[in-house]
Amino acid sequence: MPVYLDYNASAPFPKGLSGELESLISQYGNPASLHSSGRSARRLINQATENAAAFLDIDAEFIYWTSGASEANSWAVHSAVEYARSKNLKPRLLISAIEHESVQLAAKFHEACGAELKIIPVTKNGVIDLEWLKNLLATDANWSLISVMHANNETGVVQPVEQVVAAAKAHLIPTHVDCVQTLGKMPLSVRKIGATYTTFSAHKVGGLKGTGILAIQGTGKILTPLIHGKQQKSLRGGTENPVGVAAFGSVLMQLKKTAGFATSLTMMRNDFEAKLKKLIPGTIIHGEGTSRLYNTTFVGFEGADGDGILMGLDLEGVCASSGSACTSGSIDPSTVLLAMECDKAIARSSVRFSSGPTTTWADYEQVLKVLVDIVARVRK
Ligand code: PLP
Repeated sequence: MPVYLDYNASAPFPKGLSGELESLISQYGNPASLHSSGRSARRLINQATENAAAFLDIDAEFIYWTSGASEANSWAVHSAVEYARSKNLKPRLLISAIEHESVQLAAKFHEACGAELKIIPVTKNGVIDLEWLKNLLATDANWSLISVMHANNETGVVQPVEQVVAAAKAHLIPTHVDCVQTLGKMPLSVRKIGATYTTFSAHKVGGLKGTGILAIQGTGKILTPLIHGKQQKSLRGGTENPVGVAAFGSVLMQLKKTAGFATSLTMMRNDFEAKLKKLIPGTIIHGEGTSRLYNTTFVGFEGADGDGILMGLDLEGVCASSGSACTSGSIDPSTVLLAMECDKAIARSSVRFSSGPTTTWADYEQVLKVLVDIVARVRK
């Protein structure tokens, strides 16, 4: 069994899900069909929507099922842009420098189509610069959307989203918060966060890939279809995926039980980082000393190459990542680290370890055992 420390890329399926999936796939009807098979599929979706609404603390009617968080994020940006256009206004987007690619690329696409795009900078610790944002809004508050994620997928640094939403609300600006990495790791209430658009992905918490949620709330409830069709109140076309949706609902119910893992995972992560610094000189923990997700260590090793370290780890049966899974395999340094003014060489040397409920101290020990030699070899 490999040591799996790449939960931020995708989490393993929880025990019991495979049995459940077997029964789910037997309900193959189209949820739009009126016959019994279709009604069974519809019931799965309705139940999952109720489960998700209860877990996320939002009314079920405000939940839309998507093909994942990339779609949900793109949809939020698209909707805000289209709303501005419908009012004959130039769309103006304000997104943080550390947003997931699906937000960044959607915003850049709209910029190429005539929207204005401004980037909210982050501090060296990887937290968005709230003062910068507040100062900007004091003189220029005419924005179509402000997008700031709840916690960054690479560094795990938690962002002050409630303050961002409050500042935006004061100027009636719609907001988007990508909660993909905080789901299941922090107490989470969509109502409390208060953003217009909140987005989630199933596979980061043990659900199936290709399933996500866009939740919408508040006075600026603006949705324009990205995918056209009659399903989901004609706002998100395409036959829903009852298996993926039901599995997500079921996983969310199980997440309540995993909340207790936070304390032990925090202790393990802290011990791991302390030992890394002791055993490997020139170790830099990104976002250290800042409020971070308890499961994430994003670490640079001076004078080493991150891809070389990852290959060495893989040969030893350790799954880790060079940051965002979508950019692994590319030699470009992490844009998140560059936004934090991290040195390019350190950014290139960085490796992310992210744990989850099945992680044990033996996993971290195994990494420590092999990493000292791997880093020394790669440095040579
Ligand atoms: N947002 C964040 C913060 C992520 O970490 C990811 C996953 O890489 C996504 C969005 C995209 O999620 P999905 O894989 O469901 O499209």
